[in-house]
Amino acid sequence: MLPLPRQLSTQARLAFAWRPRPRAVIVPWFLKTMGLQIFNTRTRRVEPFKPLDPSGRRVGMYCCGPTVYDYGHIGNFRTFVFADLVRRYLEFRGYEVRHVMNITDVEDKIIRGVRETGLSLQEYTSRYEKAFWEDAAALHLLTPHCRPRAAEHIGEIIKLVQRLMERGFAYKAPDGSVYFSIERYCRAGHRYGQLLNLDLDQLRPGARVSSDEYAKDAAADFALWKARSPEDGEVYWESPWGEGRPGWHIECSAMSMKYLGPSFDLHLGGEDLIFPHHEDEIAQSEGAELQPSGRPFVNYWLHGAHLLVEGRKMSKSLGNFFTLRDLLAQGFAGREIRFLLLSAHYRDPLNFTLQGLRAARGALERLDDCLQSLREIAGDAEAEPQPEPLDRFTAAMDENLNVSAGWAAVFDWVREQNRAIREGRLTPNQAAAALAAWRRLDSVWGLGEPEEKVPEEILALARERQEARKARDFQRADAIREELLRRGWRVEDTPKGPRVKRN
Ligand code: AMP
Ligand code: ZN
Repeated sequence: MLPLPRQLSTQARLAFAWRPRPRAVIVPWFLKTMGLQIFNTRTRRVEPFKPLDPSGRRVGMYCCGPTVYDYGHIGNFRTFVFADLVRRYLEFRGYEVRHVMNITDVEDKIIRGVRETGLSLQEYTSRYEKAFWEDAAALHLLTPHCRPRAAEHIGEIIKLVQRLMERGFAYKAPDGSVYFSIERYCRAGHRYGQLLNLDLDQLRPGARVSSDEYAKDAAADFALWKARSPEDGEVYWESPWGEGRPGWHIECSAMSMKYLGPSFDLHLGGEDLIFPHHEDEIAQSEGAELQPSGRPFVNYWLHGAHLLVEGRKMSKSLGNFFTLRDLLAQGFAGREIRFLLLSAHYRDPLNFTLQGLRAARGALERLDDCLQSLREIAGDAEAEPQPEPLDRFTAAMDENLNVSAGWAAVFDWVREQNRAIREGRLTPNQAAAALAAWRRLDSVWGLGEPEEKVPEEILALARERQEARKARDFQRADAIREELLRRGWRVEDTPKGPRVKRN
């Protein structure tokens, strides 16, 4: 079986034009009126965003979705929160976004999981897909309009492979696998290496190590269709080349083009997907030659930097990860985690620490307190949004989603509101106008209101403590109080009984 390298080798990294990049680009004022400017990995430039739609309104956006073999870690979710921010900001700017996100439910790690658990593919993946959507909801991710699963698109995938065969860019190996020939593709005038400068001789070093690789014409070629092997168990489909299953890259080409057409606006993912996943997606999709002449498969490629732990990428393989569930069980709210993930620019690595998460919680509380005071003053009053801080926020976000400046606009505004509240000079109408402005901002930040809901296990502990107190087992009651504190909750005994609050 061909192991698809999912991360860049050191050599490829060195050849990689993605970094260094200009930091803190100062955009002149007149450019700010030009609308959203965004960094395009394909051109390595910050460019004005212009949809392909002649009316300039509709935008097609594809984000590579999760591989549903386990619970997602918050590194994965950094990328999905980034995609959500892009969608929300485009909608804020008046675009009508069609957001497609696939579910990778056929893949090596999944097949291993199916083998080890004895479940069917569907039983195994549906468990993790369900968990993914629950996590997505906890982080306030807007549901994509279309959520195709690879296993339900085998027909489309086979058709695309057939087309690549017809064009001469794909060939069948003796074992029944089908590979994409980079050499034939380039000979036909196509360019492999659009997202990074590739040294084709260095490509996929070590690929020859696996005996399966000898079936390929060239080490750089990658699998479109993988012949069935004994380890695959019952995970296989019939195809013109015999039993087998699709490669990972072709899944995204087939599904993105099916739902967004052969040429669309935006394609997103974490930076580890640039090579080989996205480069191979371009080769397959442009190799099918379905695009109107002169149009690329994807106009803007956007990639999010990684979430790190002590300087290294948070990942399952390094074991340095927190799942979203780990953090929720510790008493952190989804919106606090979202706020932390949105605190750094999407192209800057973000180092995750629990201390950083607690600091995020503190900052969010300042914002929540201010909004609460505004609500109390506004009462039933309603008003149009006040322009400040919306103008400053828009100017900041237009500049390649400069969230630091966006948050500065928000927190300066919070400070002003607090001063006005303290000095008692805010009328209900002004407070209502401020709240209306916040609602516009929050259509992008997606923080919502504080969740009052205390997790069931915390409530159970609080009840247990209450029982222990009744039984005069104060040692046990104190131990539970400590346990709650450790998980980030405190119990306050009020005249109406104990109340659990976030610490
Ligand atoms: P996967 O479920 O492995 O297919 O990954 C889903 C998404 O998470 C992909 O877009 C990856 O690029 C992204 N991803 C994986 N690890 C990290 C990380 N540490 N930080 C940010 N994004 C990540
Ligand atoms: Zn993909």
